[in-house]
Amino acid sequence: MRGTFTFDMSLIASKFESIAPSQTLAITAAAKQMRDEGQDITSFGAGEPDFDTPQYIKDACIEALQEGKTKYTPATGIPELKEAIKEKLYLENGLEYDNNQISINCGAKHSCFNAILACCDPEDEVVIPAPYWTSYPEMVRLAGAEPYFVQTKKENNWKLTADELEESMSGRTRMLILNSPNNPTGSVYTEKELKAIVEVCASEDIIILSDEIYEKLIYNGRKHFSTAAISDAAKEITITINGFSKVYSMTGWRLGYTAAPLEIAEAIAKIQSHTTSNPTTFAQYGALAALQGDQSIVTDMVEEYDMRRQYMLSRLGTINNIDVVEPEGAFYFLVDTSKMGLSSMNLTEKLLSRYKVAAVPGIAFGYDQSVRFSYATSLDVIKTGLDRFEEFCRAH
Ligand SMILES: *Cc1c(COP(=O)(O)O)cnc(C)c1O
Repeated sequence: MRGTFTFDMSLIASKFESIAPSQTLAITAAAKQMRDEGQDITSFGAGEPDFDTPQYIKDACIEALQEGKTKYTPATGIPELKEAIKEKLYLENGLEYDNNQISINCGAKHSCFNAILACCDPEDEVVIPAPYWTSYPEMVRLAGAEPYFVQTKKENNWKLTADELEESMSGRTRMLILNSPNNPTGSVYTEKELKAIVEVCASEDIIILSDEIYEKLIYNGRKHFSTAAISDAAKEITITINGFSKVYSMTGWRLGYTAAPLEIAEAIAKIQSHTTSNPTTFAQYGALAALQGDQSIVTDMVEEYDMRRQYMLSRLGTINNIDVVEPEGAFYFLVDTSKMGLSSMNLTEKLLSRYKVAAVPGIAFGYDQSVRFSYATSLDVIKTGLDRFEEFCRAH
């Protein structure tokens, strides 16, 4: 009989019972449907650059394809790209690694998951400062470990302090996840702040996963510091993660990389060799060109983001009922909506259905009194969207 079949859920691995599907999906799907129906939706939802991948990067990939670079490479990537990453880390981040400490992965998201899988046993705790990037907790759960959330304070620009870290630790703490510049808050840790955090982790043998994917999207003359470069002790406990998606507008290429202490790098290589094998061969040649090419394209994109950021900051600063902290990196504003007293799902649903503005509810980042606005979209869209948001705030 049709329609009576129910799937036996015991066939699904029990670890999935605690895995939540993406809470941002509902809003994104609703926004898409409304747009398909011809409604004029303004979206601040984007988690990816609105620029096209630079031409010289595409050309290098096309050339690689035509030269027949279409077969397997070593599981952790081509030596030329590792060499270029090694040089980049040395020159820009003050980090010295050997090629066998570097692995190229299928996106920085994959890099994060590999690193968590390589280091965390079931029952281990992973400290995640909130607001956090939405995938970290679920990756930790998939590895069988447990996320331990620390709510950071707006007054401290949403940054974890060494004291808060110390208080959050238990005998089971294995890892801390740091993300600077931060998604969703745009916060950037200073060298001094990192030093204090490293000191706590080094004394307790806690591994630091340092997700530096927004490294170059940084404003106000702020400087990015790599956690591993803080000290020799930092380098011994830090896994540095970076990638091509955000800085070179290469989200669909799926390329990220990891630099780690040798033993961790070897564990990651094992995982990757038995799961994905190498990241797409010809894509790696595009990434090689990205690192070797003229970096002025990055400066140009950063300038454009900064212009939008400043415009949004000046507008959001005049809107009642909300609070913002000036973001100094990435391409997001985390707008604090606690004065409105609405849950973030309720707020974003109203904002979408009545004011035609799509944004990501803060609950996806572990802070329900907020919404995330991305400025990886044109200034025109930003202007219209903020006009509408201002009206919404006036009415609530
Ligand atoms: C976008 C993003 C990533 C992952 O990027 P990939 O496309 O997988 O390279 C990782 N961390 C943060 C914080 C991000 O915002």
